Amino acid sequence: MILPNDFKAEYAVLETEIQSAVADFFAKGWYVLGKEVSSFEQEFAIYIGQDHCVGLANGLEALFLALKSLEVGEGDEVIVPSNTYIASVLAVSHVGATPVFVEPNPLTHNIDVTKIEAAITDKTKVLLPVHLYGLISDMPAIMRIAEKHNIYVVEDCAQAHGAMVNGQKAGSFGHINAFSFYPTKNLGAYGDAGAITTNDESLAEKIKMLRNYGCQVRYQNEVVGYNSRLDELQAALLRIKLRYLDTWNAKRRECADMFRSEFSDKDWIFPHVPEGYEHVYHQFVVQSDNREADMKELEERGYKCLIHYPIPPYKSNAYKQQFAKHTFPIADTLAEKVFSLPLHGKMWNK
Ligand SMILES: *Cc1c(COP(=O)(O)O)cnc(C)c1O
Repeated sequence: MILPNDFKAEYAVLETEIQSAVADFFAKGWYVLGKEVSSFEQEFAIYIGQDHCVGLANGLEALFLALKSLEVGEGDEVIVPSNTYIASVLAVSHVGATPVFVEPNPLTHNIDVTKIEAAITDKTKVLLPVHLYGLISDMPAIMRIAEKHNIYVVEDCAQAHGAMVNGQKAGSFGHINAFSFYPTKNLGAYGDAGAITTNDESLAEKIKMLRNYGCQVRYQNEVVGYNSRLDELQAALLRIKLRYLDTWNAKRRECADMFRSEFSDKDWIFPHVPEGYEHVYHQFVVQSDNREADMKELEERGYKCLIHYPIPPYKSNAYKQQFAKHTFPIADTLAEKVFSLPLHGKMWNK
């Protein structure tokens, strides 16, 4: 059976390097904000093509602190896609701002850029596009809209490490952008981890303070901060996996091609890759009119499939009261039709 994830097969490839990094880590005996974190930050910033990266505890806090650094708060509106993973919405709520949902383009699953301007009000402070399933959003159009209306852009890159449009990577368009390194992501740690990327030095400095109790110099607390530091050991392990990211993204694309030909007889809507886009297939998501039967058939053929995501955030118990008067039919339809083939597992079982 090919499972959605196969961490043991992945670890088998990395075992020697990981064991040696772990031995070094204990030999050094430095556990919080040391050389591994700063080296990973430099390497990841270079990989994305930004001047700064700041390592954080996880992806949700990366989004939250990105919004905090832009001083987004009560009375502000943040535009998010209606079909995202709930973390993008939670970050908006946690800073006290109001999420304003915009429907996705059903072919790309990403925010429909033709519908953004209608959702902009004088309270809109941030556009928060999510690069769902590994396809980058239409960032050139989003940046044009943001510039025209003088609003910030925060990219949610949790599913799009290495994804590109016109040769430019996810996490290099917005004013400040958030990554998750949760184990299942394309670049995943062995536990929780996250980061922001930005070209704005003052935002990077702010995030460095916010992640560390509001101080850069010990005991000099400048702002009311948090504890959201990237773990030193996770940083050491992420440095190893970053060197495999492009190869493994290419492997994901190969598996995606294999799925496309193996299931070419199906009347599913397959992942759409517009001209000029490089998809990194965090998930291989198809739309089916007979989801239950199709998932059952695939399981019999040895593919364990999952649904990402069965409930749009606005319909979750967490938000259904706040959005009781709203409906988002495209998000609803996608939630009824989508399912994901086990792409990461397939990478190790070709
Ligand atoms: C995983 C994910 C997050 C949250 O990241 P964590 O590290 O789990 O907190 C945010 N947004 C999206 C789109 C995600 O897929």
